Amino acid sequence: MMADGAQFGGSCEGDDCEIRDGGGYVPKPGDAPLPANVDLKRIENAVREILAAVGEDPQREGLLETPARVARMYAEMFRGLHEDPRIHLQKVFTEKYDEVVLVKDISFNSMCEHHLLPFLGKAHIGYIPGGKVLGLSKLARVVEVVSKRPQVQERMTETIADLMVEELNPKGVAVVVEASHSCMTMRGIRKPGSLCVTSAMRGIFRSHLSSRSEIMTLIYGK
Ligand SMILES: [Zn+2]
Repeated sequence: MMADGAQFGGSCEGDDCEIRDGGGYVPKPGDAPLPANVDLKRIENAVREILAAVGEDPQREGLLETPARVARMYAEMFRGLHEDPRIHLQKVFTEKYDEVVLVKDISFNSMCEHHLLPFLGKAHIGYIPGGKVLGLSKLARVVEVVSKRPQVQERMTETIADLMVEELNPKGVAVVVEASHSCMTMRGIRKPGSLCVTSAMRGIFRSHLSSRSEIMTLIYGK
């Protein structure tokens, strides 16, 4: 029998918590399929181990479905391991436009590889085309793929810039990422509100201070 809206009394966002008898999830219509090559069972076993190790009872009612839920969450959070961001940079248009193209405030969430805690923020990507122009939504797609991996913000920033250079051969690329890291706000040094900003400049944005100032002004205003 299908669970008729079976829900636990938890406060997590219920949409993701739909379960059916015997565990496992009912994917919603519209859900992108999870990567096939993620071993969900193995994650479930590991989560049960962690719960037991911290002194919890994995068989307690409220925790029974947690391992399956966490397994699915990790499959989703790390799906970028199984996707190639380059495919989003290969559909380009030939244009003579050679001024700055900037997409600001591309929101993302990623997972810090040191603590497996989320970091959340925004990416700003600017470039000066060298004859090839991208559809604007493609930049957001690249951020989405690269962020859905165990990450450090510095590498994420550089990866995006380098992909742009390799696939578009632009005159310049500027990637600025700002994010709040749960591993700094929730634990350890506990500094809520702290923001980490990283940038990767390539081409003219690296070699010309005036170009770099221009793009930073466009990103941050005056
Ligand atoms: Zn961390």
